[in-house]
Amino acid sequence: MSDLRDLYQEVILDHNKRPRNFRAIDVPTHFAEGYNPLCGDRLKLYVKVDGDVITDLAFLGSGCAISKASASLMTDALRGRTVAEAQALFERFHHVVTTPPDQPVEDLGKLSALAGVREFPVRVKCASLAWHTLKAALDRTTLTSTE
Ligand code: ZN
Repeated sequence: MSDLRDLYQEVILDHNKRPRNFRAIDVPTHFAEGYNPLCGDRLKLYVKVDGDVITDLAFLGSGCAISKASASLMTDALRGRTVAEAQALFERFHHVVTTPPDQPVEDLGKLSALAGVREFPVRVKCASLAWHTLKAALDRTTLTSTE
């Protein structure tokens, strides 16, 4: 298992160092800001939905490696998916990071890099911040920017 853990660690470090989709979207259809007071992670999430499909999503913000890597991995994983697929993946991801470490969980590919947070409950909020922010963004039907 330790090799697997090293691999996961590498994915997180890579996405923290070179976050994908780390930018704003000029005219997003959905937008939300997320904040994790436990760690100080801040996130702005921009989403562009065309019909049913998420055609683009991007984020800006600052926070710990876990929160940044999670947002990076999430934006990569969801481009081209439908809103329903994104919501289903949110449920699956949430289940993976909140299941006790001694119990088996589904393999979510690269997203499973974050499964290690199960052993550090305080980190679960870091890993799920991007997803909760996505849910908040998608729940809004019109663009609402607070800044
Ligand atoms: Zn954090």
